[in-house]
Parts: sequence; C-alpha cells; structure tokens
Amino acid sequence: MTEISQKDLEYWLEHVRIYANNGDVADYIPALANQQPEINAVAYYPIDGEVLYAGQSEYTFTIQSISKVITLALALVQHGESAVFNRVDKEPTSDPFYSIGTLEVEEPAKPSNPMINAGALAVTNMIRGRDSEEMVHEILKLVRMLANDESITYDEEVAKSEFETAFLNRSLAYFMKQNGIVTGSVEELLDVYTKQCAITMTVKQLARIGAVFANDGRDPETNNPLVPSHVARICKTFMVTCGMYNASGTFAINVGIPAKSGVSGAIVGVLRNKGGIAVFGPALDEKGNSVVGIHFLEKMAQEKHWSMF
Ligand code: GLN
Repeated sequence: MTEISQKDLEYWLEHVRIYANNGDVADYIPALANQQPEINAVAYYPIDGEVLYAGQSEYTFTIQSISKVITLALALVQHGESAVFNRVDKEPTSDPFYSIGTLEVEEPAKPSNPMINAGALAVTNMIRGRDSEEMVHEILKLVRMLANDESITYDEEVAKSEFETAFLNRSLAYFMKQNGIVTGSVEELLDVYTKQCAITMTVKQLARIGAVFANDGRDPETNNPLVPSHVARICKTFMVTCGMYNASGTFAINVGIPAKSGVSGAIVGVLRNKGGIAVFGPALDEKGNSVVGIHFLEKMAQEKHWSMF
C-alpha cells in the first residue's frame, strides 16, 4: 500500500505554491530565463504501486544537475570506484556548485565531489565513447532505462544556449585539463555535459528514476537490477551529503532524505524502500534550489516523519 495519497500531494503543493514568489528563475543559462515561475508539479512513484501526481505533471523541464547522479552511476559501472575517486573526491563543500576557488587549493586540482560542476565535468569526461555523440548516447541509454521511457532525449535549444555561454564551466574544465584531471577535448566534454544537463522529462519520469534508487538500483516493476546496489548506495550517499549543493546540511536537518536538485527548478528525492518523489518549480533560492520544491519536501517529511535520521 502506498503511504502517500493523491490528496496529500495536492494539499502539500497547494500549501507551498505561494513560495514561488520568494525566488527567481535561473537566468545565467539564457534559455532557462524564460521559465514561468508559477508552474509547479509533483509526482510520487511508489515501488509497489501506481504513480501519483499533482500540478502540471505533463510539463517537461531539463534535469540540469540531477544528471550528475546518473553520470556518476554510469562512470562507477564503467570504471569502478577507485578509478572514479582518483579523479574526484568524496567530500561536501560549503562553496557554491559553480565555484572555481577550491580547485586551486586542492591537490592536484581534484574537485571536492561529483555533485559540484567541477566534479561532474571530471566524471562526465570518463564516460566511454569514441566521440561526444557516443558518450551522450551512453548517458541517454541509462536515463531511458531508469525512467522506463525510450522517448527521453535532450532539449537542443537549452543545450546550445548553455554551450554558448558556459564560460565558467569551460574555465573549470580547462583548469582541470591543465592539471591532468580532465583529458581530451574540453569542447567535446562541454558538448556532452551541456546535453546531459538539457535532458528533458516530466515529474513522473523523474520520480520513476527516484524509485529505482529507492529500490536499491532495481527496476520497481520487474525488480531487475538496473544499477548495482553498491553504486546506488554511493549515489544516494552523495545525494545526502552534496545533493542540494551548499545547502545539503540544512536540507538534511529539515527534510532528511537523499535528494538532488537542478537549476531548472527540479528536485528528485529518494524514500528508501518506499518510492521516488519529484517536485518542480523553477523559482530558485540563493543556493540554486527550487523554493517550492524545498518547502514541499519539508512539509512532506515533517508530516510523514520521513527523515532518515
Ligand atoms: N547546467 C548547469 C550548470 O552547469 C547545471 C547546474 C545546476 O543544475 N546546479 O551550470
């Protein structure tokens, strides 16, 4: 029996949608600046039942940094733990996700964790493929499997818009290339990275991805392993320690579930052995997290006593 009802989702969303006025949509990626702050949606995908949803649940958005969890899972499957953690560390940081500062003080330019941009660029750089097209294909293959939807792809306009303006991400990648953390063509890496960030889905599809992690990497319908359980465990641990950027500590206290957000305004949360929850609302707080999403998850966790701590 599912522990969240349709009424719960509707009630919580109704209660928190006013918070959209307390944030701003991301505009450093020009194509995201057009998002309407009042749009919101939520879906809950239980591992043992039917998906529930409320709000504009058919609205599609780009997953942005949520893709970092998926490329981390893929890199761990392809190369194993020691190879991945040679390139990227496992520690949370109080710096913002786009920070370049700590890279210079780390030895030797090793990013703190795979959930900040530098770390995600280093991880994406490891994805197998002869060229960027093959690498993007590998990432999409896993996303489609997790969401159980072959039609999922990336938004070319958002990818292009970010590719053309990603001066800071380019700087991070070039700095890491100088120090041997990134190899090969930085432009190809940026091509893959901006396309993975521009992967488009609805809250229902995103909640299904959360459900796979809630089920320790297994398909919620068939129970087939889609991601090895130790890889799912590592990904969920990073979601707890680093998933909400430099607000992860506050989020762990106020909500207490593994979660990952993206600057489009999406958040995916994992309720272990229960299901995946996805919330969308494009207005962001100063740390880059959806204000409606955070308030929603706070309300859900508090009413259901679902903190894992
Ligand atoms: N594509 C975005 C960037 O690299 C993703 C960042 C995010 O969602 N926090 O800036």
